[in-house]
Amino acid sequence: MATSFRGKKGVVVGMGESGAAAAALLVREGAAVLVTDDRRKEIPAALRGLTEGEGPGTIRFRLGDRPTEELLSADFIVISPGVPRETLPLQALQIRKIPILGEIELASTFLTAPIIAITGTNGKSTVTTLVGEILKEGGWKVFVGGNLGTPLSEAVSKVWDFVVVEVSSFQLETIRTFRPRIAALLNVTPDHLDRYPDFQSYREAKWRIFENQSEGDHAVLNQDDPGALPSFLKPEGVFFSRGSVPRRGVYLREGEILSNLWGEPQPILRLEALKIKGSHNVENAMAAAAITLLCGSSVEQIAQALTRFKGLPHRMETVREVRGVKYIDDSKGTNVGAVIKSLEGFTVPVVLIAGGKDKGSDFGPLRDSVLKKVKRLILLGEAQEKLARCFLDHPAVERVDSMEQAVARAAAAATPGDVVLLSPACASFDLFRDYRHRGEVFKKEVEGLSA
Ligand code: ADP
Repeated sequence: MATSFRGKKGVVVGMGESGAAAAALLVREGAAVLVTDDRRKEIPAALRGLTEGEGPGTIRFRLGDRPTEELLSADFIVISPGVPRETLPLQALQIRKIPILGEIELASTFLTAPIIAITGTNGKSTVTTLVGEILKEGGWKVFVGGNLGTPLSEAVSKVWDFVVVEVSSFQLETIRTFRPRIAALLNVTPDHLDRYPDFQSYREAKWRIFENQSEGDHAVLNQDDPGALPSFLKPEGVFFSRGSVPRRGVYLREGEILSNLWGEPQPILRLEALKIKGSHNVENAMAAAAITLLCGSSVEQIAQALTRFKGLPHRMETVREVRGVKYIDDSKGTNVGAVIKSLEGFTVPVVLIAGGKDKGSDFGPLRDSVLKKVKRLILLGEAQEKLARCFLDHPAVERVDSMEQAVARAAAAATPGDVVLLSPACASFDLFRDYRHRGEVFKKEVEGLSA
């Protein structure tokens, strides 16, 4: 049940997409909202046209600074996933018992449709989108959003059969009552070690997706990733696996995806029919199948949607083939685990463009696949030095200053049959606005290559 926010004073910290959506929702619910952001100055469209003021159902802004007093006199605070909690005066807030909510928590208290939540280090957006596509195949009204695309707050006040939401570890840090009917944890490999003291803390943040579940709910888990399996679990686990047959779940046998969720093995789809390639996408397809079987989708609906799905932009997206060389944009490969999976799929030599903003990553685990598959390693951005130190024994490493140079050097190094892959293992914020911008710049350079 939704708490009443009417007449309460709320501060929304961070005016990104989800912060803006949360603020708009709170104004609609009659709260007196203050929005703060220490960098952003331009008021987003979602907040223009709302009544400005200090009373119930109004909004005001404090931009370009961090107003401590207003935080301490609030009834509650909504923090954006991009803002580390440590930037708030946590102790003082705790003494005054001022709750800090996340947008996911806030929105979920208003939702009555069953929530399906998906987290993991990699594959969240792909699986969230796939689940939405499969459910729509059954004619259901489905909201798809969260960390990906439309903020969850925008699902409030409309009628849905299912709400499918991608959640990041940052968003899970601020949940209290968030209880998905189906929660999936796809995998956990090191990431965001600039925001967590260690890998275990990051993993524990992910496990919080299950914390309010009870019997009758479902947890969808990756049987092949034991490190991702939570140390506590109230609902029964349903598993997906490439390597073995789970007690209950979806698995791979002789090139075919099957389910034993409802008893006897049921074939779902042969791998040849999948347009999204790579072993990681087989895992993603299996996870989406397990989730949607639990929702009541038929095997036919699952097969149909999986066959149609071509993948999301910037995730192993083929841009173009020039003089026998295929150029692939995997700009969303922002951590070591994603790049390992991306490289795993290739049997031809790869010219890899990597580097960007380091997130405190250990690049060591990349060594094996890079030394095996990468004929030339082109390094870009802030993490250049650190990556180069990791590959001192690689015969062909070079550093460049821009994406333009990176693509030109890659084109010069590649010969027919090779692949040029942008899969950076890093965030993009040193040289680009975000991973999309980085991918678009890569594509533009590739489009400019002469055939
Ligand atoms: P997320 O939303 O978790 O970032 P995406 O679906 O956007 O996940 O994919 C992000 C990156 O991770 C891409 O580089 C993609 O190729 C890779 N990837 C996708 N699914 C998986 C998976 N199941 N395991 C490992 N890497 C994956």
